[in-house]
Amino acid sequence: MDAIRNILTVDLEEWFHIDERLIPAGTWDGLESRVEANTRALLALLDGCGARATFFALGWVAARHQNLIFEIHERGHEIATHGYLHRTVAGMTAAEFRADLREARRAVEGCGGGQVLGYRAARWSLGGVPGGGRRGRASGMVTEALDVLIAEGIRYDASLAPIVHIGDPSWPRDPYRIERPGGSIAELPPLVGRFYGASLLFASGWALRRVPNRVLLREIERRNRRGVPALIDVHSWELDADPPRVRLPFMHRLAHYGGLRGFEAKLAELLKSAAWSPARDHLVPPAATSIESPNRAARSARSEPSTMPFASTSATVE
Ligand SMILES: [Zn+2]
Repeated sequence: MDAIRNILTVDLEEWFHIDERLIPAGTWDGLESRVEANTRALLALLDGCGARATFFALGWVAARHQNLIFEIHERGHEIATHGYLHRTVAGMTAAEFRADLREARRAVEGCGGGQVLGYRAARWSLGGVPGGGRRGRASGMVTEALDVLIAEGIRYDASLAPIVHIGDPSWPRDPYRIERPGGSIAELPPLVGRFYGASLLFASGWALRRVPNRVLLREIERRNRRGVPALIDVHSWELDADPPRVRLPFMHRLAHYGGLRGFEAKLAELLKSAAWSPARDHLVPPAATSIESPNRAARSARSEPSTMPFASTSATVE
């Protein structure tokens, strides 16, 4: 049997897309842009590892670097959206969220990067306000935003972290489908795992950069043995070993600057040790409901081993 392909995602943004309260959007145009150099280094690394990814591009970046978005698309990667202004979901009304999503999508699709199918919220914030709920959990899924994503035709979200602070450990760890009154959406949660007794977001940030690859790979293989893909998330600025630095609170400092040195080599080793593909390859083919070509739909479903979790698992939220 072929190896399970895991889901490789990239948040395509600048080094200063940290937290809008610390570095407000009004100052961004005056800051040094490094996204092109960082992203080209990442694209070369992905080519070297034979990996294809989904790039969640920030609309603000896409509007200023149209050729870069087109180049990513041309090199065989998927372009999805990370919103326009990197605002946290819980900080927006439903109308503001819809406007931000539409502007982001227009910016990305205007670059010739193909149709946007997926969404990732800034700082995993579709899970609510970090630490705003009980026992350090986020304040809870922002269901109004899910409804907007469904109404706007977004087919999958990758923002709900099954871990304390930025999400909720009771949420599913495998890909699942969220049913809402207006329809449903696939959810692709980031990889979490245990390291020295603590649950960590293995998928991203400090843990992806610092937890040894053998520990990450053990967790990835545990999922793959059950036929389930693991999802990881790289930021374009993480390929910058020495980015411009600003004074940040401790947790932000750890997330943004901790363990950047040596990450390029660590990431290359991790990517070569498993198979990776964009999120779009893991969606249930819509052709499965087509009456025109049932055989083709059945064939494509068989060649897609990781579609099974979507079909067999569903979670309903209020
Ligand atoms: Zn981001």
